[in-house]
Amino acid sequence: MSKRDYYDILGVARNASDEELKKAYRRLAMKHHPDRNPGDEKAEHAFKEAKEAYEVLSDAGKRRAYDAHGHAAFEHGMGGGAGYADMGDIFGDIFGDIFGGGRAQRGPRRGSDLRVVLELDLEEAVAGVEKRIDIPTLVACEPCHGSGSEDGKVETCKTCQGRGQVRMQRGIFAVQQPCPNCGGRGETIAKPCKACHGQGRTQSQKTLSVKIPAGVDTDDRIRLQGEGEAGPAGGVAGDLYVEVHVREHAIFQRDGNDLYCEVPIRFSQAALGAELTVPTLQGEALVKVPAETQTGKVFRLRGKGVKSVRSHATGDLLVRVVVETPVNLTAKQREMLAEFESTFAGEEGAKHSPKSSTFFDGVKSFLDRMMS
Ligand SMILES: [Zn+2]
Ligand SMILES: [Zn+2]
Repeated sequence: MSKRDYYDILGVARNASDEELKKAYRRLAMKHHPDRNPGDEKAEHAFKEAKEAYEVLSDAGKRRAYDAHGHAAFEHGMGGGAGYADMGDIFGDIFGDIFGGGRAQRGPRRGSDLRVVLELDLEEAVAGVEKRIDIPTLVACEPCHGSGSEDGKVETCKTCQGRGQVRMQRGIFAVQQPCPNCGGRGETIAKPCKACHGQGRTQSQKTLSVKIPAGVDTDDRIRLQGEGEAGPAGGVAGDLYVEVHVREHAIFQRDGNDLYCEVPIRFSQAALGAELTVPTLQGEALVKVPAETQTGKVFRLRGKGVKSVRSHATGDLLVRVVVETPVNLTAKQREMLAEFESTFAGEEGAKHSPKSSTFFDGVKSFLDRMMS
């Protein structure tokens, strides 16, 4: 039986890229994998054929030779079953993530990342602050300096010869797996440290000083590289993420870079106009309320908001004035108000109350329509 063309086997064009080759091979190998087709000789043949084709075409030198001379290029070199001998490597390369265990990590594992929530006052978030935080975490063991070894001696693992991986035979397959003896580290410890039982890290409380930049807001995260959990047996430490949560403020509400606040004013101030002293995060500011201002009117104070931590643009302060009904009136005040009220009697009153007149006009036509 003459051999089929490698490009035909993989179903790719002759100018296929490495990525296309890999994809095509992966698809075929998945389809014809002996684990999925037990006892199916056709599938096994198709699998071997695809593997051989991929092995040649994925190697730049072999591919050039094949393109120039076809199968004749390998007739002396890779005859018979020799081409199938080393299946393990190709598995570690492109199948590790599918069949599991192929991508055993060599060397100590990295420590886990940690997350802490940091509560801030609005003033702190706006101005920036330095905070001390206490976090329970795993730190490198002191007696053994994180090595996990009492005498500091570390030996190369005899099971995997330090590679951290072992090859397991499964049918015609060789699969890479993390070494069961050393857990993938490639090293073993004869005398484990007593303080950490050979883990190289212990549970502890860590105190850190964190610089919070000005302008942060709720849900912003600050990453402190290497301040997470220590890695086992001297592995690299994970990162610490400090997640900001800004407490509610008694006066200001924040929306992005803008701040809002409500300021009560007397109705006589609203009617006559007034200069109001309003709070800002930088101190007090003056707002000129013109005569005949209605309740709920918003005044914008440019640049009195929050300076963004990202763009450094500064937001505004939005002051909403709310007219307050006076309480605990004296007899005199009550008398004056009664007199004031009497001036609104009759048709004349309407021109002093724009909202009321619009409202009552609406009510009248509503009732008229109901009656008719
Ligand atoms: Zn090992
Ligand atoms: Zn230790």
